[in-house]
Amino acid sequence: MKLSLRSKLSLSYILIIILIVSSASFFTNFLLEKQFREYVIAQQVQENQRIVDLIAQHYQEDGGFRPEVMESIGLDALKQGVIVRVRDSTSLIVWDAMTHDHAACVEVLAHMQQNMNSRYPNFQGAYVENTYPIEQNQQLVGAVDIGYYGPFYFTDSDLKFISTVNITLLAVGACSLVLALILGAEMAKRISNPVSRVILAAQQISRGDFRERITEKSTTSEIIQLTGTVNDLAETLQQQESLRRRLTADVAHELRTPLATLQSHLEAMIDGVWQPDTARLTGCHEEILRLNRLVGDLERLARFEGENLVLDKTSWQLRQLVERITQNFAAEAKQKDIQINLTGADPAVFADQDKISQVVVNLLSNALKYTPAGGMIELALAEADDTVEFSVRDNGDGISPEDLPHIFERFYRADQSRNRLTGGSGIGLAIVKAIAEAHQGTIVARSRQGAGSEFIITLPKHAN
Ligand code: ADP
Repeated sequence: MKLSLRSKLSLSYILIIILIVSSASFFTNFLLEKQFREYVIAQQVQENQRIVDLIAQHYQEDGGFRPEVMESIGLDALKQGVIVRVRDSTSLIVWDAMTHDHAACVEVLAHMQQNMNSRYPNFQGAYVENTYPIEQNQQLVGAVDIGYYGPFYFTDSDLKFISTVNITLLAVGACSLVLALILGAEMAKRISNPVSRVILAAQQISRGDFRERITEKSTTSEIIQLTGTVNDLAETLQQQESLRRRLTADVAHELRTPLATLQSHLEAMIDGVWQPDTARLTGCHEEILRLNRLVGDLERLARFEGENLVLDKTSWQLRQLVERITQNFAAEAKQKDIQINLTGADPAVFADQDKISQVVVNLLSNALKYTPAGGMIELALAEADDTVEFSVRDNGDGISPEDLPHIFERFYRADQSRNRLTGGSGIGLAIVKAIAEAHQGTIVARSRQGAGSEFIITLPKHAN
């Protein structure tokens, strides 16, 4: 059976309250009645003794049993449901309630029986008689027989007391039930409302509306966590979505220019407007090379930015790798008359060698690209307790303060016209950043326009 959280909570409250109230009523009733029964029995014993003492006292004061005094005592006792018979030392009856008013006695006993049966339908009661001796100076002067409906009985006021207690218990139970229902419904509402909000928000999010956020406040820590998590999820999805859109737009934008150039050039040649000479075909070829580079960069970026970027981490010497790559760039550097210097220690790093060589290649090729002829590139290695630092500093064009915060974004190129010449697609630094972060490392850039730039990558030295 499927029940809402609210119904389940409300039902649990009702069940708990019914259990508490009924068990409290049952035990109170049970204990109270038991105590009250014992009290009534003790009272009966006391009352019997009081009557006997009163008769003995009058015997002493009057020097014998005076029937009219006995009658007054006996009639008083009868009102309490007690039937008295007084006998003298020869067992001669001085006064007997039964003889005096048989009908009243029978009526009293019947009334007590009725009281007891109203309370306990199966009560096994019967007439009980106890005999008490009356003594004067250790001499037996008579006896009193006291009879009542036994083993015990409740008078009208006793019954009234018991029913008042029960009614009070019932009223308390009913009041707590109503109160619990109101409070339970309120509590259930407080818990289920935010959960319903979360469900609604999650449904909106699953339909693709990532702007949805839960703003309701709650004082329940689990609900706060739940709403926080759903909001974070929506935030992440929204970011992913905008990233995806931007990437598609950026790729389309990047492809449009070389494709448009190719199209117009080829159309001009087909229409015979242009002769397909070497220079024009070389232009087309360059555009194709640019497209190829872009696709290659995109592939690499997708690989490095992918969540499943698998790193083959080992411990190796960073300097050797940097030296090797520098040699690969030696011809290009010589051609541009740029001097490359490498200084610093030979630290070991715990990283994926392939990926880090990509980082060094990207940083070094950028430095060569953006440093004019006659410039200088300083490569430096340094190590701290847990990290290794590799920096690439050039005295080239530099980056403006407006561009500096964005250079690690995909397709971001600081100077469009300059980049057109250098042929960059704006992906190289995004790849560097993705690799650094995958290694739990960092990359920072410092630059002053016209005074050169410095890129510093920090990598962990040991396995975490
Ligand atoms: P690109 O393929 O265009 O070089 P990158 O992601 O490698 O793309 O670099 C992004 C932008 O950062 C570049 O277009 C360039 O404007 C700037 N940049 C990167 N490295 C340097 C550098 N050493 N000196 C000056 N500008 C740089």
